[in-house]
Amino acid sequence: MQFIKITSEWSPELLKAIEWQTFESFCVELLRAAKFQAFRTPIGKDQGIDIFAYKDGLFDKPAAIAQCKAWATMKVGVKNIREFYGAMAANNVEKGFFFVTGEYTPDALEFAEQNKISIFDGEKILQLITKAPQGVQDYLKKFLEMNNFLYPTCQSCNKKMFLRTSKKNSDERFWGCQNFPICRQNFKLSQYQEMFLDQ
Ligand SMILES: [Zn+2]
Repeated sequence: MQFIKITSEWSPELLKAIEWQTFESFCVELLRAAKFQAFRTPIGKDQGIDIFAYKDGLFDKPAAIAQCKAWATMKVGVKNIREFYGAMAANNVEKGFFFVTGEYTPDALEFAEQNKISIFDGEKILQLITKAPQGVQDYLKKFLEMNNFLYPTCQSCNKKMFLRTSKKNSDERFWGCQNFPICRQNFKLSQYQEMFLDQ
C-alpha cells in the first residue's frame, strides 16, 4: 500500500476522493474542532448513526448524532435524511449533523431545513476548512494522509482494500479486498481517486 501525499490545495475533488471510513473519521475531527467529544460508532452497529457527539463531558446522553456519506457522484436524497431523522427520534437526540462529500437533492435539503437537521455538503465543508487556522488545515491534510484516505475499507472485513489491476485489461484498476478469494468485495476507482493516485 502506497501512502499518498497531498500536494494540492483543498478542493471539491480532494473531498470527493476520500473513502467512506476515512470520511467518517474526518467528520469526527470536524466535530471535535467544534468542541464536541465525538466518537465513531463501532463497525456493524451503525443503525443509521455514524458518530455520537457529546458536550461538556456529559456522556450519559449524546448532544448530537451524525451521519456521513462519502458519495462523490450520487446525490443524497430525502429517503436518507428521513431515516436519519428517525434515528434522531429513536435516540431522543435533538441535534443532527449530516455530512456528504458531494451534494443533496432539493427535497432532501427541504426536509432537513424543516426538521432543523444541520446539513453539510462538499462546498460547506470546504468553507469550514478554509476558514480554519492554517495549523488546523495542515493537520487535517496530515490526518487524511495518515489514514491513507484513497484506499477504501472493506465493510465485511474492516480492512483497507488493495489496488489491483484487471487480468483482462491491464489499463483497468480496481479496489479488491485483502482477503481475496475468501472475500470478493471490490469497488470501482472513482475519477477523483485516479486524480490523486496519478498526481
Ligand atoms: Zn473483505
